[in-house]
Amino acid sequence: MEMHAEHIEELAEGYALGALEPGERVRVEQHIAACPPCKRHIDSVEDTTHMLAFVATPVAPPPRCKLKLMEKVAREQFLQTPTRRSRTVNAMSMWAAVATVAFIMSGAWSMRLQQQLSEVTGAQNQIQGQLASLQTERATMTAQIAQLTTLESVVVAAEAVRSLHGAGSAANASAKTYMTPGKNEAVLIVHNLPQLPPGKIYQVWVARPELQQPLTMFNPVDTTEPVPLQPPEPMDSYNWIMVTIEDAAGAQQPSKDTVLFGEL
Ligand SMILES: [Zn+2]
Repeated sequence: MEMHAEHIEELAEGYALGALEPGERVRVEQHIAACPPCKRHIDSVEDTTHMLAFVATPVAPPPRCKLKLMEKVAREQFLQTPTRRSRTVNAMSMWAAVATVAFIMSGAWSMRLQQQLSEVTGAQNQIQGQLASLQTERATMTAQIAQLTTLESVVVAAEAVRSLHGAGSAANASAKTYMTPGKNEAVLIVHNLPQLPPGKIYQVWVARPELQQPLTMFNPVDTTEPVPLQPPEPMDSYNWIMVTIEDAAGAQQPSKDTVLFGEL
């Protein structure tokens, strides 16, 4: 003997779709083991549910989809079975459930594809960003190599070398000027200049009586640093060369903070 209230018709669709909570599923299984009418009902619902195989790709819907599906199925039942449940209503409600599952599955599938696509696009953007920064880095290095090659050729071709001596806050520093008489091109190679505080820079000057000509500014990154010099007149037209510490923007008149000095 079974009480009508204990039949599991309202769980049949969820059971057939594998969308029940574990406790409900156990209840259904225990019930249909002892109730042939409910067993037949479940069987017919399962038959209908297998139609899904022809409607949608069998992708397991994520838990949230299952919840939504059950809400929908429960609402369909609530709306369509206010009093007595006929077979027609059952079939209608099943077709509604099938359509819902097919819709949710195709939606979930397309969401998954879109997510994968956006992941691929993100990775692609990242790679392009890295490539661009590597290309920039390579361009910088190529320019540095070209400059060093130029400096090297000036040093190799130099016909005269003049020494500079450390002074002031750079007593341990030294430098050599590689120059060729008659040429506006020379290279100063400095050694052991101390790191500068922020906002300061080293500046090279060439001078003769009544003239102090500002040249290149630099901030050495290594203990030995080559500094290109391109004075407006040939190097041998000046009497002295020196390096001072100036504010980062450079100066038109040298400060008194001389760190290297030599005769040309
Ligand atoms: Zn039953």
